Amino acid sequence: MKWETVIGLEVHTELLTESKIFCGCSAKFGGEPNTRLCPICTAMPGSLPVLNKRVLEYAMRLGIVLGCTISKSSKFDRKNYFYPDLPKAYQISQLYAPILRGGQLEIDLDGQKKAVRLREIHIEEDAGKLLHSGFGETHMDFNRCGVPLLEIVSEPDFSSGDEVLLYLEKLREILLYLGISDCKMQEGSLRADVNISVRQIGGELGVRTEMKNLNSFKAISRAIEYEADRQIGILESGGKIAQETLRWDDDIGESYSMRSKENAQDYRYFPEPDLLPINISEEWISEIRKDLPELAHQKRERYISEYKLSEFEASVITGHKNISDLYENISAHSNAPLESARLITGEVMRLMNQTNTLPEELSVDAQKLGTLVTLVTDGKINRGAYKQAVEAVFTEDVDPEDYISKNGLMMQNDSAAVKEAVSVIMAEQASAVSDYRSGKEKAFGFLMGQVMKKLGGTANPEAVKEMLKKELS
Ligand code: ADP
Ligand code: ZN
Ligand code: MG
Repeated sequence: MKWETVIGLEVHTELLTESKIFCGCSAKFGGEPNTRLCPICTAMPGSLPVLNKRVLEYAMRLGIVLGCTISKSSKFDRKNYFYPDLPKAYQISQLYAPILRGGQLEIDLDGQKKAVRLREIHIEEDAGKLLHSGFGETHMDFNRCGVPLLEIVSEPDFSSGDEVLLYLEKLREILLYLGISDCKMQEGSLRADVNISVRQIGGELGVRTEMKNLNSFKAISRAIEYEADRQIGILESGGKIAQETLRWDDDIGESYSMRSKENAQDYRYFPEPDLLPINISEEWISEIRKDLPELAHQKRERYISEYKLSEFEASVITGHKNISDLYENISAHSNAPLESARLITGEVMRLMNQTNTLPEELSVDAQKLGTLVTLVTDGKINRGAYKQAVEAVFTEDVDPEDYISKNGLMMQNDSAAVKEAVSVIMAEQASAVSDYRSGKEKAFGFLMGQVMKKLGGTANPEAVKEMLKKELS
């Protein structure tokens, strides 16, 4: 029998707003447990939520880019459940009238385009966090309660883990460039629940299970493979798949059952009585559309046409929002877009590799690098000094001008010093000199290197070359 895997995704992404969705508490990640709370995000009696407008703007940005239909009138609903991470005992979400419907995200599968259809995108609030101490105790941290989320629900259009990963990468890129989420999986700001079923190729959809607790791309890919195999095993031995929610344990590489699949009735959903319907006008949508941040492919095209970067450089730089931000800042500071691109694709990439720095962890000072770009393009430092100083800025955040003067890296244009060094080397390396004079061009490079070394590597190579030529002829 030939089996096919069918996958649908529910992606939760935390929005990068300053404050929470219905109150003024900070929505930042972390903080001392239970210090970012108020009566509203804990639903104390008598408190009333007020919707953060920014949440709507962010949802609209995403909806425009993904081609969703933006609802002119959407609503909030209450999803009721008791769990210790939810002091309100209900979550404000959208069930009946989500803000966005439809739309699609195109992925590129080895040159083949595939459109993944979206079912809907709705707004909801996050729950708190449970910390299991390992001493049989569980601690509750409610700081995350009320952080705004978008839940992006796809149709069951994926047929492999690879497709899922391509989709998540593309989605992450869009969210980052739109500036609406930081998408840090390790901090929970991008989370995916994976629905999986298997069927005979071309046959009816099978019963699905939903897998939770997937904290990395690697885990998602392993979990999909494991679950598809598990289901095929059951079906081939004549069994039936139970519709249930599974929890993935990445340490042992297995899933276990959390609960049998709930349905909407279990949650006693009802319209949220404390919030008004959300009304969105055509004008507001146009305003958001007009101010949409530039996406990766738009930056790529602009870098090529405006800054004359190569295709390769433009792709490397737009590979991550943080890299393109860094590039644009260095470039703006130094007014040297080509040299700045060369810095990113060269030294910065090399140093990131060497120090195992991921783009999302990149925190190097763009102004300082910009200063170095200016110094090298103005001929104040040579390439060797430049490289050394870039590394010092990258790894130790030194002040570039201080560093250069302390280490004597300013280019020496002192012609008396250059002349002196040239004559010393010509005397020391008499055989190379006569080699050169008898026509061995290669000897010139050697002599040049010796003079540079003598001058501590900081001489202006052009000046050395000129002087050496003159003295040799
Ligand atoms: P529920 O209402 O129970 O949450 P939905 O119909 O909203 O279920 O679907 C949730 C997710 O499951 C969607 O992403 C959808 O694409 C996916 N899905 C639905 N049916 C299947 C299936 N048979 N196999 C795999 N994924 C599925
Ligand atoms: Zn609050
Ligand atoms: Mg659902």
